[in-house]
Amino acid sequence: MEKVALLKCETYDVDIIEKKLREGFDLLGGDSFLRELIPYNSKVLLKPNMLSIEQAGSPVITNVNVFEAVIRIVKDYSSNISFGDSPGFGDSNKAAERSGLLQVAQKYNVKFEDFKESVHAKLDKSILCKSWTIAKAPYESDVLITLPKLKTHAMAYYTGAVKNQFGCIPGTLKATWHTRMPNANNFCKMLLDLNTLVSTNFAILDGIIAMEGNGPKSGKPKKMNTLIMGKSLTAVDSIATKLIGYDNPLDIPVLKEAYDNNWGEVFEKNIEVLGEKVSDMVVKDFELCREGGNFYFISPQVTNFLRDLIAPDPVVIKEKCIGCARCSQVCPEKPKVIKIIEKEGKKYPVWNMKQCIRCFCCQELCPCGAIETKYSTLGKILRMNKR
Ligand code: SF4
Ligand code: SF4
Repeated sequence: MEKVALLKCETYDVDIIEKKLREGFDLLGGDSFLRELIPYNSKVLLKPNMLSIEQAGSPVITNVNVFEAVIRIVKDYSSNISFGDSPGFGDSNKAAERSGLLQVAQKYNVKFEDFKESVHAKLDKSILCKSWTIAKAPYESDVLITLPKLKTHAMAYYTGAVKNQFGCIPGTLKATWHTRMPNANNFCKMLLDLNTLVSTNFAILDGIIAMEGNGPKSGKPKKMNTLIMGKSLTAVDSIATKLIGYDNPLDIPVLKEAYDNNWGEVFEKNIEVLGEKVSDMVVKDFELCREGGNFYFISPQVTNFLRDLIAPDPVVIKEKCIGCARCSQVCPEKPKVIKIIEKEGKKYPVWNMKQCIRCFCCQELCPCGAIETKYSTLGKILRMNKR
């Protein structure tokens, strides 16, 4: 049975987080568990969520004090620690500096990896994807500890321990995966393969302040006072999604694919939750993001045929848009789906929806939260029937 530690932590005070995480490791097996997880002086890579260039404390990214608390613990077992990520848009060095992660890392002699150097790798026993170009640092680490943020996600409903490793794909190559895997179920199979490839060993999920609503970048901060840790990424994600209001893990694309492909445990009854009780930590009024691009109730062939009719569309909130054109820049499709037009002295995007694959990169990376996802009337009816 998979084990996860569920911890209540009401503050981002680094000393208190460290204490809580040490309690979590004690629940999981203490020093011997950690020695097995981090063999002496092994090459450890910490993988926080640095989705974009954000100030320290932003709910978009892993909190800097969670990062520091993890370093304090890992340092007891290895002095060969690095951290890194490749943001969806913008320079990883700037993202590391603005978030405060770089300064904390320097304090503890933890090396920064910008994930710009890549390697080609093969994954023979894959669900879907065998050939990869991937950042060298996570691929070559001995121990990969992922530090995801608990957030909603327009395409995948939820982003956490499994999805966090998408940042191991260097820079703009991420866009090509969106083009190759336009629907969420294939995209999630790819994410599972990616985690197999980099051998993600352990997850510590930052849900002290999570993100609800229009995530993963433009939602609202939501205090959940939660840390979840465990070896099984899917078990950690399953418990996290339960806490925000999903009773069935199979409603979450990445957990459905994990279950279908026997990749990891997703059902609460098969997960031993140590520490807090799940029922005590559930957040009843969490604003979910149910506008994702999945249609499991019909076959993939029919899905593709009907996609234009029923899939949600990205829509601009004109009052919030500053006409910066980032949405068009990050769109992976060629030619671009989005054009920036000027009307009455104001610039804003327009979409050619016939060509849109609904990857929602534009929504994810708009700096102003000016894009939301909306269903057509038919899409709404079909989804209501599904539930
Ligand atoms: S929608 Fe967002 S990314 Fe696109 S132009 Fe407006 S502000 Fe920029
Ligand atoms: S317009 Fe947005 S959702 Fe559509 S393909 Fe481009 S980035 Fe993806």
